[in-house]
Amino acid sequence: MSTQTAEVVVIGAGVIGASIAYHLAARGCTSVVILEKDETEISGSTARSAAGVRHQFSTDVNIRLSLYSIERLKHFSEEIGGHADLQQTGYLFLIDNQVDWEMYRANVALQRSLGVRVELLTPEEAGRFIPGTRTDDLVGATFGPDDGFCDPHGIALGYLNRARELGVRLERAMPATGIRTVSGRVTAVETPAGAIACQVVVNAAGPWAGEVGMLAGLDIPVRPYRRCVYVTEPFPAIPGAIPLTIDVGSGFYMRKEHDNVLFGKSNYAEPPGYNTAVDWEWLDTVLEAGLKRFPILERAGLAEKLCWAGAYEITPDHMPILGRHPDLEGYVDASGFSGHGIMHAPATGMLIAEEILDGRAHTIDIDSLRVMRFRGTLRRELNVI
Ligand SMILES: Cc1cc2nc3c(=O)[nH]c(=O)nc-3n(C[C@H](O)[C@H](O)[C@H](O)COP(=O)(O)OP(=O)(O)OC[C@H]3O[C@@H](n4cnc5c(N)ncnc54)[C@H](O)[C@@H]3O)c2cc1C
Repeated sequence: MSTQTAEVVVIGAGVIGASIAYHLAARGCTSVVILEKDETEISGSTARSAAGVRHQFSTDVNIRLSLYSIERLKHFSEEIGGHADLQQTGYLFLIDNQVDWEMYRANVALQRSLGVRVELLTPEEAGRFIPGTRTDDLVGATFGPDDGFCDPHGIALGYLNRARELGVRLERAMPATGIRTVSGRVTAVETPAGAIACQVVVNAAGPWAGEVGMLAGLDIPVRPYRRCVYVTEPFPAIPGAIPLTIDVGSGFYMRKEHDNVLFGKSNYAEPPGYNTAVDWEWLDTVLEAGLKRFPILERAGLAEKLCWAGAYEITPDHMPILGRHPDLEGYVDASGFSGHGIMHAPATGMLIAEEILDGRAHTIDIDSLRVMRFRGTLRRELNVI
């Protein structure tokens, strides 16, 4: 390794590490090394995402992260280069009971108060998107026309390429194996090729963030949970673009990618782990939920080779952990996105660059996302798929 010192070492070359490195470099901090344990960059969760982007959250801070990020994704080609390929086909939440409906209506009020376009739909209106949707048991739906999906690989690569043009170094097949500290501050990151002396280390290790935290003796409560995405053969019976649609009661979701339909449902009973093989046994449970709401899927064939799985990086309150650690100077968290890291990558890169270069993130208040919150009462994000 030729670089033995850096101002900042970023651990992880996924969309989050890439965005942070770019935002640092764009502000003139180019003495940055990204360490990636794998042979290639963008090989972790970023490569396995369902690529959804949405404003429809239940917490103020998540909505603000989305507002900033989606605006940046709209202008990604001009601002960063590369392709975000943002498709604003909407997100549709179908609600089948009064308790959830009250909660979603309150969320909509909050979203609107922050400037988000979001509509309350009747069951009949909600049924117009996907032919044959069962609506007789629905109470209502929320629809965000500015939500949609994007190209996670294009975004991560766009940030990485610009960062490297600006002088950031990417070290592949180079795991961080230790974080050295002296008198409560970070002094270096250890790798198999030697130590890199640095003032700041950023934990952008996605599902591995808990383990990277342990390298510094810190308890970072991020754990990996498998999530599977199943894909149909081209299915013209659902024509045109549809919103990413969530049947809130069952947790089943679906969206289209070209003519194929992507679908899934989280298995909350599965313990944490790094198994990213597709769970074929879980498919029956997913289909049972999906067919109840969308009987038309009965006619779709499964494209087994296109299905995949990856790890969500989940925190106890389903909110990311951002910012400097109070117990270790020079250590910064940027992990635990709990399934929302693609859509929040632009804001995260900007905020972590502020945290490092200005002493504190200031464009969006991230105090509620600091790791200290786990020492008190948590406010969970409730709009989780
Ligand atoms: C099935 C699925 C569906 C999803 N759907 C969505 C969605 O619709 N919308 C959305 O916004 N998000 C979604 N997500 C979540 C999203 O993919 C993640 O939040 C995001 O990719 C996190 O990016 P990251 O850069 O933090 O993590 P990663 O992309 O995992 O990058 C972390 C990197 O760190 C590296 N690393 C780990 N340990 C070390 C070490 N010791 N040294 C060096 N390198 C190390 C890893 O190899 C990896 O490359 C989904 C995830 C999955 C699995």
